Amino acid sequence: MNKLQNRLIISFTFIILVTLCGVSTIFSILIIRLPQQERITFLELNTQARSIIAVIQRFPNLLPARFPRFQLLDEISGRQDVRVALADADRTVLYDSGHVWDTSSDFDLFSRLSPTVGERWSGQIREEGRTWLVVAHPAPDASSVQQYLILAKPLNRPIRTILIQLRDTVAVPLLQAGAIVLTLGIILSISISRSIARPLRKVSQATDAVSRGRYDVSVEAKGPEEIIQLARSFNTMAEKIQASLQAQNDLVANVAHDLRTPLTSIQGYAQALIDGTANHPESRHQAALTIFEESCRMEKMTKTLLELAKFQAGEITLHLTDVDLIQLLRERAAFFQKQIEDAGLKLILDDLPAFMSVQVDRERLIQVLDNLLSNAITYTQPEGSITLSATIQETWATMSVIDTGCGIPKEEVPRIFERFYRGDRSRQGTGTGLGLSIAREIITAHHGTIDVESVVGVGSKFTIKLPRDTNPQ
Ligand code: ADP
Repeated sequence: MNKLQNRLIISFTFIILVTLCGVSTIFSILIIRLPQQERITFLELNTQARSIIAVIQRFPNLLPARFPRFQLLDEISGRQDVRVALADADRTVLYDSGHVWDTSSDFDLFSRLSPTVGERWSGQIREEGRTWLVVAHPAPDASSVQQYLILAKPLNRPIRTILIQLRDTVAVPLLQAGAIVLTLGIILSISISRSIARPLRKVSQATDAVSRGRYDVSVEAKGPEEIIQLARSFNTMAEKIQASLQAQNDLVANVAHDLRTPLTSIQGYAQALIDGTANHPESRHQAALTIFEESCRMEKMTKTLLELAKFQAGEITLHLTDVDLIQLLRERAAFFQKQIEDAGLKLILDDLPAFMSVQVDRERLIQVLDNLLSNAITYTQPEGSITLSATIQETWATMSVIDTGCGIPKEEVPRIFERFYRGDRSRQGTGTGLGLSIAREIITAHHGTIDVESVVGVGSKFTIKLPRDTNPQ
């Protein structure tokens, strides 16, 4: 009973029943109140009045000029279930079978109906909460004195009469229509509730699978819009969890692999020192140097990894100051000048603007530029060149490091910003594959972007875009 489908069916059925009851009630009220009913009652009253007057005129002695007792009218009222009254020409009510209009001095029947003298008239009057349909016919008495015969029936008929009338007229068709609508409604509600419940059940089964560690599940996006949305969100979530787990596994594998190489080397050289294999001062010096370099590399790697983790956890705070990026570029160019010359490369400062002040974390930006410059030196053959350029726009400040190096194959371009990614050419080198991923984290924290354009054999262009006037914190 607690199932969504059952609940939906019960709710739909309840709504249909309530609607049906409401519709039949409104329909019945409309029928009871139908002006048709009033017209029929007036017609009946007029016919009755005409026949009473005909009888009176045919037998004038039945209705003497003065009515001492009004037995005849009493009789008519009783037999024909109608209120009968008689008024004279000056509109005084002489007799009323309801015993109100003739006795109550403050009840002026005529002022309520405002009839024209000598004419037949009809209308409604309210009396003690009841509405009376009233007709009055001029009825000359035996001595030709103008009088009015008044007949009245209450508009609100007793409830029993109404119910009988309803039963005889609309009840059966209403019940039949109700039964058809109810059946159709229940069929419709079953199909609607199934279309909602079935895909929901599938999402729930898939969620169960995820909770049991199976992330390769996906739900078919079918059904109402909201369910499709839910299924899509679920699939995206499952894909993201799977990707994140994969990244986590890759990370552990990469760290293990990247630590193993220097560790093996350190172990080997340390062993050589211990067992005396490295017995010459020269070979001892070489062993100690290798141990030192490899441990430095490991330290750098663990430091960068820690930094990356902090960036991703949002734990790194930028220390922003106004920095002239042109001056910074010149400073870094000077720093790498010797290294560039030693590598047989040419450094070009490409028509730099005089000044380009942006709010940045100076040390972090140096870290990014140094990584780009040292990569450019590493991956460019002697005789090549490294160009630094900068442009300033209304909202952005842009800096580029362009080299004429080996370039990056198209399929590698989307991956070079990933942690531990190292291109084929650099596998043998000393790089950790973490430089560009930390660079991207730093630039993203500044609300900027870092991108690359590269052609194999022609060179690469790394471009940093930083917003000029937004505060990155
Ligand atoms: P690494 O420390 O190994 O250089 P990076 O994250 O800085 O790590 O770079 C990742 C990879 O991107 C490198 O291994 C290399 O394949 C490629 N790469 C980066 N810069 C250049 C460049 N200027 N020219 C060619 N390839 C590059």
